[in-house]
Amino acid sequence: MANRPTPFDAIAIDGPAASGKSTVAKVLAQTLGLTMVNSGEMYRAVTLSVLQHGANPSSADEVLGILRGLELSCTVEGGVSRILVSGEHPGEALRSETVNASVSGVAAIPEVRLQLVDLQRSLLKQSDLVMEGRDIGSVVFPETPYKIYIEASESVRSERRAAEGLTDSVSERDRLDRSRKTAPLVVPDGAVVIDSSQLTIDEVVEHSLSNLRELGWFTRNSQDVEG
Ligand code: C5P
Repeated sequence: MANRPTPFDAIAIDGPAASGKSTVAKVLAQTLGLTMVNSGEMYRAVTLSVLQHGANPSSADEVLGILRGLELSCTVEGGVSRILVSGEHPGEALRSETVNASVSGVAAIPEVRLQLVDLQRSLLKQSDLVMEGRDIGSVVFPETPYKIYIEASESVRSERRAAEGLTDSVSERDRLDRSRKTAPLVVPDGAVVIDSSQLTIDEVVEHSLSNLRELGWFTRNSQDVEG
């Protein structure tokens, strides 16, 4: 493939909330020695900052006003990329119930997505990646052949959420993520779909690895990047 903008490759993992994709992405990244990127953290970090500034997360103008003043960057710790706001990782607050309740609205704002997609793409200039989210195979890296979509039944996903001690409605977040105009949650073209409802994490990882093998991940040719 001549004129590639980067010598690195991305494995795109998409799917609805609590489908198991973060855990699978983490294990895959460890197994393959790649950096793992949780793109949802970035949308959560913007949402948390909006809330901390007392701005209204339902107002695109107010969200964009806050976004303009944010200094967002990423660092890699132990093979995992973390979002930094003014040089600090926001910590557990990213996963609070208030962020859960507002993040899909914030993520539906096109200008928010533009900025975060730029940040996500910039990470591929540094290393091979496993990146998980909602639009990684469809929008962030549509040209990657390595696309996995992980789904699970709504009841299984709600049970998994409850087992983590969380009470947020995954179905409402999914509804918003699937129905937004910009970069909705879809099965990306060319993705292998894995239903994790009845599978263990190890089984989903095995399935993913055998798909990556079929797609040639392990025999990628360095001459591809020299053109
Ligand atoms: O993955 P996580 O559940 O932490 O993502 C939180 C929210 O961030 C999602 O419900 C979605 O609204 C948004 N998101 C997105 N695009 C991504 C990743 C997350 O819109 N690539």
